[in-house]
Parts: sequence; C-alpha cells; structure tokens
Amino acid sequence: MSEKPVNSVCACEGCKCQVEPGKAVISAGKAYCCQACAEHHPHDRPCNDQHCHCGDTAGAAH
Ligand SMILES: [Zn+2]
Ligand SMILES: [Zn+2]
Repeated sequence: MSEKPVNSVCACEGCKCQVEPGKAVISAGKAYCCQACAEHHPHDRPCNDQHCHCGDTAGAAH
C-alpha cells in the first residue's frame, strides 16, 4: 500500500473542517481550510464551509 495523504483538521479554533492536502492555506506554519480561517476571520468573514461556525466565535465570544 502506498502512503495515503493524511487529512488534518483546520488549525482555526473551533473549526472542524478537514484540510485537504494541496488545498491547505498555510499561515504561521499551520494549515487552515480556507483563507478566512488563516486570517482569523477578519471583518467576521465566515468560513468557506457555511455549516462551520468557527468564524462566529472569533470575535463574538468573551
Ligand atoms: Zn471552518
Ligand atoms: Zn475558522
């Protein structure tokens, strides 16, 4: 068996999206599922995945 690419979870806190090898957005050495996550959701920019609410907590919590 050849090596399978391992999907990892987005490094964004609260994000459950899988980071697809080759599509990952790398920021500060971490892999994110989309540009919004990589930039920590500036201006409440939502995650690529509309079902993912990781962007909600980025600024709303506290
Ligand atoms: Zn997400
Ligand atoms: Zn996110």
